[in-house]
Amino acid sequence: MAGADGGQMLLGGMPRRLFSCTPSRLTTFDCPRRYRFTYIDRPTPPKGPPWAHNTVGSVAHLALHRWWDVPLRERTPAAAAGLVDRHWQTDGFRDPEQSERARQNVRTWVGRYAATLDPADEPRGVERTVGMRTERLAASGRVDRIDERDGALVIVDYKTGRRPTTDDDARSSLALALYAVGAQRTLRTPCTRVELHHLPSGEVSSWEHTPQSLERHVGRAEATADDIEAALDTVASGASPDQVFAPVTGSQCSWCDFRRHCPEGQRAAPGKTPWDALADAD
Ligand code: SF4
Repeated sequence: MAGADGGQMLLGGMPRRLFSCTPSRLTTFDCPRRYRFTYIDRPTPPKGPPWAHNTVGSVAHLALHRWWDVPLRERTPAAAAGLVDRHWQTDGFRDPEQSERARQNVRTWVGRYAATLDPADEPRGVERTVGMRTERLAASGRVDRIDERDGALVIVDYKTGRRPTTDDDARSSLALALYAVGAQRTLRTPCTRVELHHLPSGEVSSWEHTPQSLERHVGRAEATADDIEAALDTVASGASPDQVFAPVTGSQCSWCDFRRHCPEGQRAAPGKTPWDALADAD
């Protein structure tokens, strides 16, 4: 792993501050303009309307989080589905009918998923914050679930998107890799396996990291932190933020919360309705 608990690194005799971040902060820099809108500009530019698929994701996550708080004898698949009802929100849906159909779908996914779990097999962590430091950065994040199997930790991340995930998604995820390193350090237990649990299909994608593959992810995170700090320094020395934090366009611009402030993004990809990413958007 790159570096140990570093605190501050000496750079030319001057202490260099650690870059504090979450995996999400780092990946947002895939488009520097989006990073600027999200983390630098204050007040934050107004975002577009809420997305229905985000509502679906957050309710499913919350239900599966709270399920572990239910007394063991009541921790049933029906209880999991009931938690969807209790925490349901209507943000982003076209109309009450669409919201109701989505609620029924999520009840089904979450209840069916809970039926695959052993309610007595308490995870090591649920919505657990883990963290790690290198000589360059301090990263932290909340993990959906951390299982312990055969003396090792497993990172479990729930997914609710339309597209089933793949093992390659699990392998290439910076967030999952940083969670694995963070869980290993925070809970002082080995952790190399990461899993994506796709609730709509019930499929699990996974990857078994090696120390080397985790180190590559950490190196990537450090390189991104360096790029962000270099961009901030360039702006501080007088360069135009518009040029330094330039847009990187692509299909993701359809779903960007800041699209309304970004002519390049509007030209690059079509706009979407807030419910277009639902499994059944009709
Ligand atoms: S619309 Fe696209 S280019 Fe513009 S900020 Fe968002 S992601 Fe970046």
